[in-house]
Amino acid sequence: MTDAEILHYITTDDRDEAEGLYALARGVREEHYGKDVYFRGLIEFTNYCKNNCFYCGIRRDAEGVNRYRLSAEQILDCCRIGSGLGFRTFVLQGGEDPYYTDGMITEIVRSIRNEFPGHAITLSIGERGRESYENFYSAGANRYLLRHETADEAHYRAMHPASMKLAERKECLYTLRDIGYQIGAGFMVGTPFQTPECLLEDLRFLEDLDPHMVGIGPFIPASGTPFAGHPAGDEGLTLRMVALTRLLLPRTLLPATTALGTLTPDGREKALLAGANVVMPNLSPVDVRKLYSLYDNKICTGDEAAECLRCMALRIRATGFTPNMGRGDSQVPFRPGAAECQVSLKLA
Ligand code: SAH
Repeated sequence: MTDAEILHYITTDDRDEAEGLYALARGVREEHYGKDVYFRGLIEFTNYCKNNCFYCGIRRDAEGVNRYRLSAEQILDCCRIGSGLGFRTFVLQGGEDPYYTDGMITEIVRSIRNEFPGHAITLSIGERGRESYENFYSAGANRYLLRHETADEAHYRAMHPASMKLAERKECLYTLRDIGYQIGAGFMVGTPFQTPECLLEDLRFLEDLDPHMVGIGPFIPASGTPFAGHPAGDEGLTLRMVALTRLLLPRTLLPATTALGTLTPDGREKALLAGANVVMPNLSPVDVRKLYSLYDNKICTGDEAAECLRCMALRIRATGFTPNMGRGDSQVPFRPGAAECQVSLKLA
């Protein structure tokens, strides 16, 4: 797709055109993954963070956040419950919390790996050095999620303190990929100061990086942050970005994000119908869920893991898809040449 075509789909307000785009994306997803929707169990193990991203509800200076940390044993208990329910992927996510030294993360990964030799272990703990990433990988981590947030330099600066650098975040992604991780990048839709050109840049960056997974969700304001007064991202635009990502990276894994489900009650179902094929139900202990408040009114903070799983499986079936509890590894390593991936788009 040319820049002009992509920008056209980013900015269109034509419903039929958007529906056509979703249908195309749905077809491409089905071609590569059928109707399966893969599950990842999310364990939010710390809401302490040394960073101060302007949008994030658990940023260092966020007001009114009760901070918590899970012990290694608590994290393992979440994995045990998750595995018992059938999960084969654990995602350990948290703020950038130096309390968890490289040694501690390595030990936690090693103990999960020992107890669950066949499960996928995903980390999502922000920017660390190559050596740290190598140690986690050697201990048994397979995947790493690190959204780039925006690929546009000026936009990145408008969303982060000067100490944070887009180049370093991108470098982390290439390092992780080089080590052998299956990597996940991604961005928010509708963050303050974002332009259609920023979103185009996100897609071009993703084409170059060719990640195994791309997390795309709307920005939702978080109280107690500098962006608290800004409006949330648009549902339609988020769905069009999911669909465009599916067309440009046909074999990538695309989650129907919790943020989209928070923005609109059937947001995740709509994402599945626009090319998404992953869901990430929560395995965190119920008493800490509300505290992992990346944004306001986050859904699924009250239910036990089993209840979240049941609810997601029902939603997936009701939308015409099939829950798949397997590891669901990405097909990106087998991606054919770009020519084979071309999708002809009718702009009329
Ligand atoms: N510390 C980890 C995990 C970050 S939290 C890291 O640096 O990667 C996971 C994601 O939540 C972020 O990457 C961001 O894209 C998203 N997020 C943060 N604040 C948000 C908000 N206000 N609205 C929507 N998504 C948000």
